[in-house]
Parts: sequence; structure tokens; C-alpha cells
Amino acid sequence: MNDVMNDPVRGEPLLKVERLRKSFGTHEVLRGIDVAVKRGDVTCIVGPSGSGKSTLLRCLNYLERPTGGAIFLNGEPVGVRWKGERLYEMSFNELARQRQRMGMVFQGFHLFPHKTVLENVIEAPVLVKRVARAAAVEEAMVLLERVGMKQRASYYPAQLSGGQQQRAAIARSLAMKPDVMLFDEPTSALDPELVGEVLAVMRQLADDGMTMVVVTHEMGFARDVADHLIFMDGGVVVEEGRPVDVLTRPQHDRTRAFLARVL
Ligand code: ADP
Ligand code: MG
Repeated sequence: MNDVMNDPVRGEPLLKVERLRKSFGTHEVLRGIDVAVKRGDVTCIVGPSGSGKSTLLRCLNYLERPTGGAIFLNGEPVGVRWKGERLYEMSFNELARQRQRMGMVFQGFHLFPHKTVLENVIEAPVLVKRVARAAAVEEAMVLLERVGMKQRASYYPAQLSGGQQQRAAIARSLAMKPDVMLFDEPTSALDPELVGEVLAVMRQLADDGMTMVVVTHEMGFARDVADHLIFMDGGVVVEEGRPVDVLTRPQHDRTRAFLARVL
């Protein structure tokens, strides 16, 4: 699924975060975060509520503007651009183009309520990428089949369960052919019996080679699917490594305390 030929910096992480900081007023929420995500890897981020996980994801695609540090996608700075020796904020259009390369799936489902599932999925390819409608529909149906929603293509969001809506939201993000998919607690708002079907779709996506960053409380998913697990607390990365190592041999008291609560 990932187009390796388009990777200008082979061997470099697809996504790289360096000394990232974010404050809201005097409240410093991210206090120097370093993260590297390799192409094709699944990185799970866990940590207590309020530790800055959502803020980090939102900074990655510049929904929030960082107050310090840098983010690189494919070696290109996110949100800013070099002009000679100086860095400038990107124009809205440049930023929009860059954002398209990062799909985002939130806790809530965020489908357009007045559009069918199919219309939701083709909206951005048709309007933003100017893909011909027939081609967009054809691609959308392939994606809907992948997330098990082909039979529901003509349904409206209100006619669907939360799990079905979230799977449709994943298909909608995939329709823009992102380089990386960012998930912010995609199953937290679901009834427990619907969590599994969404995790199964995400697992399939991971198996297909999609690069993913997943904020989650689903420790089973993190253990089984993640290549890399990050534990955040208080706006810093406290501990990271292979899931089996972090989960079974945590090195820090804060990680141990968190795991004791959630496992
Ligand atoms: P998490 O996702 O780990 O629960 P968040 O990133 O949502 O944590 O929030 C981290 C901290 O940042 C919290 O104290 C939250 O209140 C604060 N915060 C998040 N967004 C904003 C905002 N837009 N304005 C002010 N404070 C914010
Ligand atoms: Mg959050």
C-alpha cells in the first residue's frame, strides 16, 4: 500500500518529532517530545488522561501549532518551509496539501450526517484532489469492502452503529491515500461489543503495511499489533520500546503505576 518509490529519504523515519513543545497559555502540555516512526510501523501511544497524547497527535498534522521543536514527514518539515536560510509558516494551501498525507481518525466518528457512507468517502477525493466521480466511487467501494462496509455504502450515518460509522470514517481517511494514519482513541466512544470490529479493521490495515500512530487504551491491541510502544505522562515520553518489553518489564515507576491500573 505504501508507495516506496515516493519515499525521497530511504532509511529515514517516515515521521520524526524532535523536541516538540506545546503550551496553552502558561500551561506547558508537551515538554520536549522526541518520536520516530518508521515506514510501515505501528506505534501505539498510551498514558493517563491529560498526559498530552491528543495534543501530540494534533500537533503532528498541525491542527495545533507547536510552540517549539520540529516535525518531519518524509524528511520535510511539517507546517513550515525553508526559504533560503529562514523558516516560514506554510500557506494555507501548502498546509492543506501536507495534511492530506496524514489521515486522522478521532474518538467521535465525524462523518457528514447528511451524506451517505459512499458520499462521505468520495467527498475529499472529488472536491480536494479533483478525482473524477466514477473513479472515486470505484476506489471508495474497494475501501468500503476492506472495512466491511460495502453493503452499507448507501446508508446514512444515523442508520449505522458506532462501529460501522468508525469503519466508514477509516475508509474516508484512506480515500486520500495518506502516508500515515493517526488514530486518537478510535474505540473509546464505542459500546464494548463494537470495539472488536474496529480493532480488526485497524489490525488488517497494519498487516497491509500502513504506517500508523495509534493513541489507545486497548492494551491487547498495543501488545499484539504495535511495533513500538510509547508511554507518555505529564507531557513527556517516560518510556518506549517493544510492547512486550514496556508491558512486561517497565523500567519506570510511573509506567508501572499506569500499567497496574489498566492491565
Ligand atoms: P490526553 O489526550 O493525553 O488526555 P490532551 O492532549 O487532551 O491529553 O490534554 C493535555 C492537557 O492539555 C490537558 O491538561 C488539557 O486540559 C490541556 N489542553 C488540551 N487542549 C487544550 C486547549 N485547546 N486549550 C487549553 N488547554 C488544552
Ligand atoms: Mg486524548
